[in-house]
Amino acid sequence: MTYNINDKGYYGEFGGAYIPEMLYPNVEELRQNYLKIMAEPSFKKEFDQLLKDYVGRPSPLYFAKRLSNKYNTKIYLKREDLNHTGAHKVNNTIGQILMAKRLGKTRIIAETGAGQHGVATATVCALMGMQCIVYMGEIDIARQAPNVARMKMLGTEVRPALSGSRTLKDATNEAIRDWINNPVDTHYIIGSVVGPHPYPDMVARFQSVVSEEIQWQLKDKEGTTKPNYVIACVGGGSNAAGAFYHYLDDTEVNLIAVEAAGKGIDSGESAATSALGREGIIHGSKTLLMQTNDGQITEPYSISAGLDYPGVGPMHAHLYTSGRAEFISITDDEAMTAGLELSQLEGIIPAIESSHAFAVLAQKKFQPEDIVIMNLSGRGDKDLQNYIDYFKL
Ligand SMILES: *Cc1c(COP(=O)(O)O)cnc(C)c1O
Repeated sequence: MTYNINDKGYYGEFGGAYIPEMLYPNVEELRQNYLKIMAEPSFKKEFDQLLKDYVGRPSPLYFAKRLSNKYNTKIYLKREDLNHTGAHKVNNTIGQILMAKRLGKTRIIAETGAGQHGVATATVCALMGMQCIVYMGEIDIARQAPNVARMKMLGTEVRPALSGSRTLKDATNEAIRDWINNPVDTHYIIGSVVGPHPYPDMVARFQSVVSEEIQWQLKDKEGTTKPNYVIACVGGGSNAAGAFYHYLDDTEVNLIAVEAAGKGIDSGESAATSALGREGIIHGSKTLLMQTNDGQITEPYSISAGLDYPGVGPMHAHLYTSGRAEFISITDDEAMTAGLELSQLEGIIPAIESSHAFAVLAQKKFQPEDIVIMNLSGRGDKDLQNYIDYFKL
């Protein structure tokens, strides 16, 4: 039994590549080459070098003493918030831009909702001198002005998606249309462990550096590579996939995935995909997603833009249905309270996405000798206005 992907591109019954015929050549080219390219010594060398000197890895594994005292357990923070651009997303975009170069691509496209993945993509395109086009819903462009400005500053063209609800889903459709029309020179950088095979596996592998580092960092500090718990928030699921990756098949290590319950699971305004989702197809893979009885995708809601996604990646759908990971839903209010607590106990202002993971500490009882790893997926600078409005600071 493995919780990782099988050779057909499935995690249990989830995953695969459900794509229009016209997209097949692009996805197939990637599928046939990604593992070979990632195994090349020159690829590994360049990837590792950039993670070290450009991103600033390894990110520290920090023992949070005051937080540990409060919850009477041993809590370590994996500091992805200290990465260049402020979150884990850059681990993936660095990997994919190197992949695109090896495939001979000269043009990069991406979709973005809140703009975080757009910025991480624009960043690596500037780094590599590649043309970059980011599709973004017209509504999101208006809502996320600072990230739009960042992308422009980095030399990226931001193209508005004008159809449908003019948000992430429509931006994704535009990006797919672009890729179909430009199959030869263009690589599509997807921002989470979602999309058709091989994207979920490729992105999980690029993010797996997180748990690779946790293993040796914990060995140094506690004399063991294995924590009792690894806790991470899940939007599409890439930071969780990275933090879980090297522990997937090690069932001594408990995995906790944290979803956004928004205003409450039963409120009609949430993004609690595992609790509310049913099997369906989104962005080219079979997974759990929030949908109406006739299969229309439900508009998700969360105070945190990065968790505001109606599906989860197929790895997480499988971790949920198999029971390998425990899924916990956290409301907006619980997340905001946990974010304030981390700020004032440890001097670290987390992204609101990450705050969801920290809210688990108040809900679940841990033993004093337990080692609990919290994946701190990003920093809170981008969310300051949200915190200000919420707490009337
Ligand atoms: C985008 C984002 C997330 C959610 O994406 P995953 O793919 O689920 O990791 C979580 N935290 C931060 C800080 C983000 O920017």
